[in-house]
Amino acid sequence: MSFKDIKGQEIVIHYLKKVLGKDALPPTFIFSGMKGTGRLMAAKTFAKALNCLEESLDSCDKCKNCVAIEQNVHPNVNIIGIKEEGLLGIDEIRSISDLSFIPINGKYKINIIDNADMGTQEAFNSMLKYFEEPPDRTVNILIVENVDTIPDTVRSRAVELKFKPLSINTVKELFVSRGIDAETAELLGHLSKGSLERAEFYTKEKVLEHRKDFIKGFLEFLKEERPVASVVAQWKSFYRDSFERESVNFLFESISDIVQDILLVSHTKDTEHIVNVDFLGYFADRFFTFPKEKLLGIFDILNIGKKSLLTNTNPMYIMFDVVFKIKEVVK
Ligand SMILES: [Zn+2]
Repeated sequence: MSFKDIKGQEIVIHYLKKVLGKDALPPTFIFSGMKGTGRLMAAKTFAKALNCLEESLDSCDKCKNCVAIEQNVHPNVNIIGIKEEGLLGIDEIRSISDLSFIPINGKYKINIIDNADMGTQEAFNSMLKYFEEPPDRTVNILIVENVDTIPDTVRSRAVELKFKPLSINTVKELFVSRGIDAETAELLGHLSKGSLERAEFYTKEKVLEHRKDFIKGFLEFLKEERPVASVVAQWKSFYRDSFERESVNFLFESISDIVQDILLVSHTKDTEHIVNVDFLGYFADRFFTFPKEKLLGIFDILNIGKKSLLTNTNPMYIMFDVVFKIKEVVK
């Protein structure tokens, strides 16, 4: 992976290449933006370019250093992925702020902290001095969705680079280059909502077919042509009875997308921003006169449901509650 492989982030890449041509680097970078926009890929490519034995403004992708960094085994590059809140522990902090570490080959040490939003304020505070003035030839890259979670003291000394959501066309072209037919690639572009990671989820086995059944089932439910028990049974089988917070959240998002699509088609005539673009004709034929108040009512129910998911309430119960409330709104 070199800079040319990172699509849709021309401004960021242009800046990183410019920095590579200079003698002094900023001590800390913040790569902000939604997941699936190439933040980690760009961080690793930057680390490769800083350590490359052949090139200075990009990764050659062939030398010993580039290959080792790509495989996550190069000692100069320390990647820490925080999965849960507060999991930036003492060991990770030590590995980041190890002052005795000297980068091999006289190159750079790069600390990449993925999901840095999840780091606690205490963890950042304990490393404050380090983020402000890291040792010679050390660069920190914090990868975040929401930059406001990073303490101002760290932010003020860092260079922030914003990663844009990917355009439908960028995602489409990426999938076409991977051998996917143009029609499916276009659909994936719409389903991505700017995130390649999200689009890739739909390329897993059977997910696209399940999605079609799910949408058809939900639309019938909206038209009161399918009983609520059948809708719940369908969802349960998709999720194999395991309703985790994450899967219920995804379910609510998928319903939001459908409702928003219907609103766009029937009330704004905007078809460019439709997510479920393969259902465009169906929405237009069967939902053109569907009352706007009902659609907005469903949005409210989903938003309340999403908030409930942040509490300790059983996710499966929240899902039941939401589907029965939607039933009340549509009748
Ligand atoms: Zn190289």
